[in-house]
Amino acid sequence: MSSKRPVGIDLGTTFSAIAHIDHFGEPQVIPNAEGEMVTPSVIFFEEGRVAVGTYALQHAIAEPERVVEFVKREMGKSPADFSRKFGEHAYTAEEVSSLILRKLKQDAEKRIGEVIEDAVITVPAYFNDPERTATIHAGELAGLNVLQVLNEPTAAALAYGITRLSTDQTVFVFDLGGGTLDVTLMKVEGDAIRMVATNGDHRLGGKDWDDLIVNLIAEEFDREHSKNPLLDLRSYQELQTRAVAAKIQLSRRREVMLVHSFDGASVRREIKREEFETMASPLVERCRSLCEMTLSDAGAQWKEVDSLLLVGGMTRMPMVRELIRTFGDRPIAEGVNADEAVARGAAIQAMLCRFEKDRQTGGGGARTPLGEAARARFTNREGGLIEVRNITSHTLGVVLWDEQRLEPYVFPMIRKMTPFPIEVENAFGTAAPNLEKVVVHVVEGESTVPDECTVLGTCEIELPPFLPKGSPVSLLYRYNANQVLEVVVRGFGKETVATIRRGTAFKESDIAAAKADLAQLKVD
Ligand code: AMP
Repeated sequence: MSSKRPVGIDLGTTFSAIAHIDHFGEPQVIPNAEGEMVTPSVIFFEEGRVAVGTYALQHAIAEPERVVEFVKREMGKSPADFSRKFGEHAYTAEEVSSLILRKLKQDAEKRIGEVIEDAVITVPAYFNDPERTATIHAGELAGLNVLQVLNEPTAAALAYGITRLSTDQTVFVFDLGGGTLDVTLMKVEGDAIRMVATNGDHRLGGKDWDDLIVNLIAEEFDREHSKNPLLDLRSYQELQTRAVAAKIQLSRRREVMLVHSFDGASVRREIKREEFETMASPLVERCRSLCEMTLSDAGAQWKEVDSLLLVGGMTRMPMVRELIRTFGDRPIAEGVNADEAVARGAAIQAMLCRFEKDRQTGGGGARTPLGEAARARFTNREGGLIEVRNITSHTLGVVLWDEQRLEPYVFPMIRKMTPFPIEVENAFGTAAPNLEKVVVHVVEGESTVPDECTVLGTCEIELPPFLPKGSPVSLLYRYNANQVLEVVVRGFGKETVATIRRGTAFKESDIAAAKADLAQLKVD
């Protein structure tokens, strides 16, 4: 581990941000080369170089075929399910994300005049193992040493809670960003921030509200001109940009006028806030049910919530504010900038990781570039480090054979909402006599039906010959601080660490070569 300052990175669907801890111990967002606090997560591919951020966003209209947006929604997918080809190279979701991280890293390095290596990167709490692994790989491809992937609501609570630890609080974090909704109930207690329950929908975010407006105008076009403005990529991008602007204006104004031209025809359409709210009510209802479910998972009631913490640009929308008001009119935590909270919290966690490492290596903090007064901000009332206790967001299981029903089913090894890091071991009997091998199917999800879960991977273990049916094999699931799983099979005097073959693009061994390839690309 280096003695350079660690950073926190919010790798968002629509925007990303990077923050560090300044000499006074305060988390600060580091502006990019354009002087902006947040960088659009948009990538524009040119010959031998890429542009990331506002410049790329502007090009999204002129040359949409060279632009990649919303790549966070593709994380964890195999190259067969997602890749974008530019020049000779087909870029995976990890590679595209790594370019956003490179931009943040290099701009921040210029700004603070230090090389950046260690980083905490945030992910939605609801991200599963392949999505988290892909995020770690993206960081490594960008030349970062990923200290941890941290849940976004935990990061937000850290940004909020660190200065208020003198009073215990129950906090409900509502994070509605460009592409995902994450809701989490947390307890901020003297020495710790503890996640109690969490749920998310990473197919629900600002883009869905944008799409309502896009589709409204497309229908109008069809009615007036029998044309579809969405078939042309440039027209589609233009309309999307107008829709985002209209949506944001509707947060302040009661109506907006949207004009869109395509193929010699044009449409003028007034959109009233009420109409927009009616159209969006199914989306708001999805938000509501996720919140209610999380509260019920925690066995809590709204009146027990001391404050609601709002994160993500979409929480500025009146209809979202109204939804939140219906949650028993709980106080909304002010003073946290919705766009910057996650990056700041990640920076705090990065510094906590550094202190923890110093403590383990006996460095006594000497290697951490912070004065005593600034360090005090990271300690709890008893003088120890602030502790972050996370819980699992999905059940991790193994597929077994049901003797009675003669069909496979999922046995839960680590249940949802279990505090981690954790290790769980269970013994099983072999399903038939003389089995030559056991095939362990590792799955993630809440169903007992294997097809309804995400397959994390499979591993095969050779067995000694002539075993009777029911011979004991023990399975150990080890879930680390990054919510990435390791599986160990024990039995017959052997212990085998199973290699989980994930569907994601890279194996650990491929990273170095892919990183060298990507380094050829200039990013600005
Ligand atoms: P985030 O990814 O958390 O930065 O959230 C960005 C999302 O919030 C995008 O969908 C934006 O269009 C949306 N957004 C930002 N500001 C506003 C606003 N004032 N009103 C409505 N939506 C907004």
